[in-house]
Amino acid sequence: MSTRQISDQGYLLCKVCDFEYMHLVGTIEAHDNDSYELTKLVINGKHTIDCQNKKKYSYRSQGNIHLLYRCEEGHFSIISFDGHKGVVLFDRNTLMNDLTMFLNEKTKDDRDKKQFDFVMSYAILGYIEDFLSIETT
Ligand SMILES: [Zn+2]
Repeated sequence: MSTRQISDQGYLLCKVCDFEYMHLVGTIEAHDNDSYELTKLVINGKHTIDCQNKKKYSYRSQGNIHLLYRCEEGHFSIISFDGHKGVVLFDRNTLMNDLTMFLNEKTKDDRDKKQFDFVMSYAILGYIEDFLSIETT
């Protein structure tokens, strides 16, 4: 993963390949409980995906919103914002980093075949559901 996020011109860069041609695929809203566990993700404000397996979520639900981008090489990047006790943490969410890696792994074949687009598909929603059902800490 690249650590550079913004080009000298101010363009958002792909976290995998630094490409500046990026498209917003969707928003990911995170909800958690009082025990710092993720309960569900709401995608684009309309698709609710419950968390089937316990996942640690280190931030309180105060506007935890994440932006899913895809570069024109097909890599996903997530930019995350987590409100927590009055401050907003920018791009510190390891769960979202894990989800990014999971999505990039699942869509490797599509990238190799250059068969992908920049909309929130049911395939991507299914991968997010898969991610929420696997066991992690
Ligand atoms: Zn890329």
